[in-house]
Amino acid sequence: MISCTVCGVREAFYARLYSGEKLCTRCFLESIEDKVRAAIARHRMFEFNDRIAVAVSGGKDSLSLLHILARIERDFPNASLYAITVDEGIEGYRDEAIEIASENCERLGVRHFIISFKELYGYALDDIVKRIRHLESGLTPCSYCGVLRRRALNVLARRINATKIATAHNLDDEIQTFMLNIIHGDTSRMSRTGPAFDEELPNLIPRVKPLCEVLEKETTLYAYLRGIRFQENPCPYASEALRNDVRNMLNRLEEKHPGIKYTIYRSAEKIREALREKIPKIKLSRCKVCGEPTVGEICQVCQLLQGI
Ligand code: SF4
Ligand code: ZN
Ligand code: ZN
Repeated sequence: MISCTVCGVREAFYARLYSGEKLCTRCFLESIEDKVRAAIARHRMFEFNDRIAVAVSGGKDSLSLLHILARIERDFPNASLYAITVDEGIEGYRDEAIEIASENCERLGVRHFIISFKELYGYALDDIVKRIRHLESGLTPCSYCGVLRRRALNVLARRINATKIATAHNLDDEIQTFMLNIIHGDTSRMSRTGPAFDEELPNLIPRVKPLCEVLEKETTLYAYLRGIRFQENPCPYASEALRNDVRNMLNRLEEKHPGIKYTIYRSAEKIREALREKIPKIKLSRCKVCGEPTVGEICQVCQLLQGI
């Protein structure tokens, strides 16, 4: 038997190549929770009395995050935890995910709030997809979905008086986004995206990403080991071709050079810091159509909705 290199007692089941550790189930689970605790502390994600809304889609990452935060909530005795879900209106896909999300919330004793595209915008994503196929706008369902979901989360979080939104972006998501921003030369976005938002912007609930230092593979393993039921089917509209290529490239690099994802992550942090000093902070005004915060005159949501 190979013993766990942390406790030295129990049998190891997982070799963490990037650190050389061999871990037993219990030490693995604790290490993930510790990584989340450390990221929360390092980026000062939470205040002791925050009302934290966890964005739960029903997939493995968001449900792992909810379970981990429910466990470590004790560190923040006056904080409260809620789950928020956006129902984009994707038949046969989101309905199942919402049912799974609700079941997990019940198990954890966390209140669950849902908002739908239909209620907020008058269209379900399925309706939008039918229209854009017809209009041939060149945009993918994900381009609509991403912008509309972001707004919906913010509206729902405000509705329940949340002070933070926690999303389940993991380390892989973070470095993929970083690489995509390099590919697109989007330095402004590079300076703005990160594990936590330190700027307070009116009407925008600050977002934090407590899983930012956990590999996607290890989030999945966490979900399986904790017996978390999650939705496994992919979205029928998933089409982020370039992101998939970047993901595959990073996975191949990590296989050959264990630890390289963490190296890229740390480099991204340094570059972001350097950029923040150079790039002026964004100024938000109110959208002339809907009144929500926006960078220009008319927000992206209204622009997209006008186009359909
Ligand atoms: Fe929305 Fe695209 Fe994600 Fe499907 S894959 S839920 S369309 S962003
Ligand atoms: Zn152990
Ligand atoms: Zn608007």
